Amino acid sequence: MTATDFVHLHVHTQYSLLDGAIRFNDLYAKCHEFGMDTVTITDHGTMFGALEFYETARKAKLKPIIGCEFYVAPHSRKIKGGKTAGEVLYYHLVLLAMNKNGYQNLLKLASYAQLDGYYYKPRIDKELLREHSADLIALSACLHGEVAYQVGHNRDMKAAVKAASEFKDLFGDRFYLELQENGLEEQKVVNDGLKKIAAELDMQLVATNDCHYLNREDAAAHEVLLCIQTGKTMDDPKRFKFSTDELYFKSPADMARDFAHCPEALANAAVIAGRCNLELEYGESCFPVLSRLRAIP
Ligand SMILES: [Zn+2]
Ligand SMILES: [Zn+2]
Repeated sequence: MTATDFVHLHVHTQYSLLDGAIRFNDLYAKCHEFGMDTVTITDHGTMFGALEFYETARKAKLKPIIGCEFYVAPHSRKIKGGKTAGEVLYYHLVLLAMNKNGYQNLLKLASYAQLDGYYYKPRIDKELLREHSADLIALSACLHGEVAYQVGHNRDMKAAVKAASEFKDLFGDRFYLELQENGLEEQKVVNDGLKKIAAELDMQLVATNDCHYLNREDAAAHEVLLCIQTGKTMDDPKRFKFSTDELYFKSPADMARDFAHCPEALANAAVIAGRCNLELEYGESCFPVLSRLRAIP
């Protein structure tokens, strides 16, 4: 693989409201600078930017991959109360559309998340994933993904293997364990754990960078953005912030350096990009087919 084959598959744009600071046109320019022909959107919990992204990326002569980093309730999305010890209110999971059917599944999941599963964040659950996982590629997400959280935060490999097996049942060979290298200490433990699980369960790995801003020097401005989101000031030592300045849109060379320990994870980013080929038709009637409509379960 040459460095320019690398594709970023985990990218938060300005439509990850008050969380992502990447503007579309700047992102496209960066892709061209890096010789990338494919660009991805995976905003948090919503599809707000998807269509504009699809249209403008194509105009910029880039292949768009549309995805979403969903929030997944640990149990039913309908349970909106406390949590059990060792759990969180929601885990993260990245889903990418392989084609139009996958895109429609993303839309359904995003709608259910807002209408039916909202609790602090728009949440889906595994019941919905069982119904709407067709034509979607799933990546296990950041340290807040279920598998990573069990490995890292809970130090519970048994629970991590169980979670990974569940995702394998749901997605088969369309599920990838996501490795990230953002200079966070816990990532070392998590990445080692994920590699072990991949070997044990015969799963694939993929390298991503969880991009929240375009350039490294944008990290400070992004911190201010997070303060606006959480209603805090930069003077507050307890404010929510990311403990790294490496959530930028790294060059293929940067990624190759950071993942020298796992070239197959790097190569799989291009493999996944090749599996995602979304074509949306315009100028056609898109009204829902009444006979296919049903109430939210
Ligand atoms: Zn995440
Ligand atoms: Zn993310």
